[in-house]
Amino acid sequence: NFAHIITHHLVVRRQKMVDLEKELAAMREYYSSGNTRDASWRRAQLRGLLLLLHENQTEIFNVLKQDLGKHPAEAYRDEIGSTIKSINYALDNLKGWMSSEKAKLPKVALLTTAAIVPEPLGLVLVISSWNFPIGLSIEPLIGAIAAGNSMVLKPSELAPSCSSFLAQKIPAYLDSNGIKVIEGGPTVGEQLLQQKWDKIFFTGSAGVGRIVMAAAAKHLTPVTLELGGKCPAIVDFLSSSWDIEVAVERVLGAKFSACAGQACIGIDYILVEKKFYPTLVELIKIKLKTMFGENPRDSHSVARIINRHHFLRLKCLLDDPNVRASIVHTKKSQEVYIEPTILVDPPLESMIMEDEIFGPLLPIITLQKIEDSIEFIRSRPKPLSLYAFTNDRSLRKRIISETSSGSVVFNDALIQYLADTLPFGGIGDSGIGRYHGKFSFDEFTHYKAVAWRSFLVDFWFRFPPWNDHKLQL
Ligand code: NAD
Repeated sequence: NFAHIITHHLVVRRQKMVDLEKELAAMREYYSSGNTRDASWRRAQLRGLLLLLHENQTEIFNVLKQDLGKHPAEAYRDEIGSTIKSINYALDNLKGWMSSEKAKLPKVALLTTAAIVPEPLGLVLVISSWNFPIGLSIEPLIGAIAAGNSMVLKPSELAPSCSSFLAQKIPAYLDSNGIKVIEGGPTVGEQLLQQKWDKIFFTGSAGVGRIVMAAAAKHLTPVTLELGGKCPAIVDFLSSSWDIEVAVERVLGAKFSACAGQACIGIDYILVEKKFYPTLVELIKIKLKTMFGENPRDSHSVARIINRHHFLRLKCLLDDPNVRASIVHTKKSQEVYIEPTILVDPPLESMIMEDEIFGPLLPIITLQKIEDSIEFIRSRPKPLSLYAFTNDRSLRKRIISETSSGSVVFNDALIQYLADTLPFGGIGDSGIGRYHGKFSFDEFTHYKAVAWRSFLVDFWFRFPPWNDHKLQL
């Protein structure tokens, strides 16, 4: 009987694979027909995305509330508004992006014209994560569509309402022959990775990123890996009370009000000079009250932890007695809600300081001199983003030239995500490749070198028979 169940399971699995292969073969055929290359197709899909976001705003608020407890204002800022902006930017610039660019050639290529011609890559796979389940699914699609590809999107199973929203709405607004949503978890992800793609764009953890890259290597498929890590925020001593207040507000906003710290570019921990930390902690406590009230849970301004597993993972980070002893501000966390928690100097070898926190726990690490933060950051994996709140010009210069990270932002956090003109991506452990704006178009484009030469004249010394005279020319 057991053998029968196993056989049945294998047959079902095999059938699913066959169906998937058929579906992808049809998509390849559609791509080969050239439909997705047409500027009109690309525009129609981008407008479809715009319409999807405009007409379903309330439903998007609802699914984000169900999966993550996000307040509609936060949902609009981080997932709807920012995505609408990106689509409009792509629509405004599409013509220029799609144009060929003339290239200069050396004199030896007499009477030759050359151009760099952008061409789509083909059939691409986009795998996205659960923390910004709408925004991080649509944002890569914008680039893939603008570049004229066919694509499959696999949203994260951990945000199920958002995943089924996308699976339902994308076919209703976009061309299903060229754009499909396939729902599922790791098993479906693995089945998809076994297929041959022309590009894989992955947003998620470094662990799964390695699986994606290994699977891609089999077919020599290029990958973009948008991963995470620990993003530090250096908070220098700011002499003006106005500057300090603004800095603290921005730090807390970036930590607690962007999916409750479950954000790849959220602030993971703070670095501060020892003599400044008591002032900073006091200010943080005051500002927390202003932003989230006496009971942040009731303010509905701090999102929920995605699920029980992650809730327990975060609680577990605080289990270490030495870490518990470093807490200077918290309240009782319950169900899948974790209170904004501030810690000072938890042990550097504890899990909270070694792993990406991805939740509303904010360690503050004190240093003798703020300049020591440079060495601190250099001795750890390269972060996706590095933040520094400082008025010190020479410190800013040193941070730019002596540290390495996906991005550096001074005196604010998260705004780099909104910039269509800046590349968004990591380095080292925080990722491979970049996107947003034209960078997204480039990530899904092959730039083909094209040259055509006149038959009229040529240099005789370019051709054999070789002799010393030709060498001297
Ligand atoms: P994850 O790696 O667990 O999952 C990401 C996606 O991969 C999901 O769709 C999941 O279903 C799929 N997946 C899981 N196992 C798979 C497998 N074996 N084969 C194929 N697919 C598989 O990551 P997550 O928990 O969804 O997201 C959190 C991580 O993502 C954090 O590390 C965070 O920093 C990072 N992140 C990065 C960015 C960025 O833009 N750089 C944005 C958001 C999140």
